[in-house]
Amino acid sequence: MSEHIWQRVNPEEVVELTRELVRIPSVTSCEGLEISHFVKSWLESHRLGATLVPAGEGRASVVCELGTGDPILLFNAHLDTKPIEGMTIDPFGGAVEHGRLYGRGSCDTKGAVAGMMLAARTLKEAGGPRQGRLRLVFEVGEEGREWAALQLWEEGWLRAQAAVVGEPSDGKIQIGNRGRIGGVVRTFGRSTHTATAEWGVNAIEKMCKLIDSFLHLPYRQSHDPVWGTPPLNFWKIESSGWEATVPYQCVAHFDTRIPPSIGPDEVIAQMKEAIESLGRTDPEFRADMPEEQLWPRLPAAAISSHHDLVLRAQEAYRAVAGTEPALGANPAMTMAHILITRGVPAIIFGPGEIVRAHTTDESVGIDELVLAARFYAALAEQMLGHGG
Ligand SMILES: [Zn+2]
Repeated sequence: MSEHIWQRVNPEEVVELTRELVRIPSVTSCEGLEISHFVKSWLESHRLGATLVPAGEGRASVVCELGTGDPILLFNAHLDTKPIEGMTIDPFGGAVEHGRLYGRGSCDTKGAVAGMMLAARTLKEAGGPRQGRLRLVFEVGEEGREWAALQLWEEGWLRAQAAVVGEPSDGKIQIGNRGRIGGVVRTFGRSTHTATAEWGVNAIEKMCKLIDSFLHLPYRQSHDPVWGTPPLNFWKIESSGWEATVPYQCVAHFDTRIPPSIGPDEVIAQMKEAIESLGRTDPEFRADMPEEQLWPRLPAAAISSHHDLVLRAQEAYRAVAGTEPALGANPAMTMAHILITRGVPAIIFGPGEIVRAHTTDESVGIDELVLAARFYAALAEQMLGHGG
């Protein structure tokens, strides 16, 4: 018998189970019940009791629990995927080539689901947990805008002393999510015929000044090894434009992501100050940022890099990978945000890289799949213990 239970996680089984999950279509909002039934039956066939939690008509999340009492270690990932339109590979083929497994959801997040299922089975077969509970929560309705997880929170399934969210984490132990602010800015000019443009005020030209000043705001000058530089993306711009006419209005939409060191209110204050400052130096500059269109307006959510969960995760990673783990932060929004802001310490660790999620040729590295499955087993062993 090997010394650590993670060594009992069989790489071929990790690949096979991920592949079986990929082969069952589960596009978000029309997941169907097949994927949930498959996961439930698999868990039950290994004597791990599982429950379906309905999420509306014809779809359900799956919950499984081992052990009793506290602490509760929660493993969470989602069963639904992005749609398959435009994919250049067979989305449900699960082909394995050159060390990668291809298909919709392979990286986001069926590989994590498979790894968590196998880690739970390994712990159970070793007689664990010795104390506390390992809980698996695999939800549907994560990839859309509905946040079905909020229902699971209300029903108590996500309450835990520690949690791991299985989103692709670029091989890093991620200690949280960036915050997010979305909004709209408008500039106002004075229209006239192009032939007499010198009499008008071009709202697009004013918007160029505004965008440039936003891109140089103080909050964007920070760089942090974990959180990086806060991105600011102007993603849509339109004007009151008619041909041969100077536009009197221009509207631009932006989306920015922020680290824990700065809150949304402070960033918004910097934006307002930039607008006022442009007005002071240019008497013809007029702009605003409607308060009601600032959405979302979320601060970052993170746990300390010295949190006990992070230290234990680093130890588990070292044992499994044989190298020093890198800490990072998730640049997008994940379930960790819901958990951390509600008082559940959470890290994000899952096979794959976020740049490969939602792509037309989504795939995940086999070595990443195996590493993640072993990491989950090692962390469960470390936090909950086993019988032998
Ligand atoms: Zn995801």
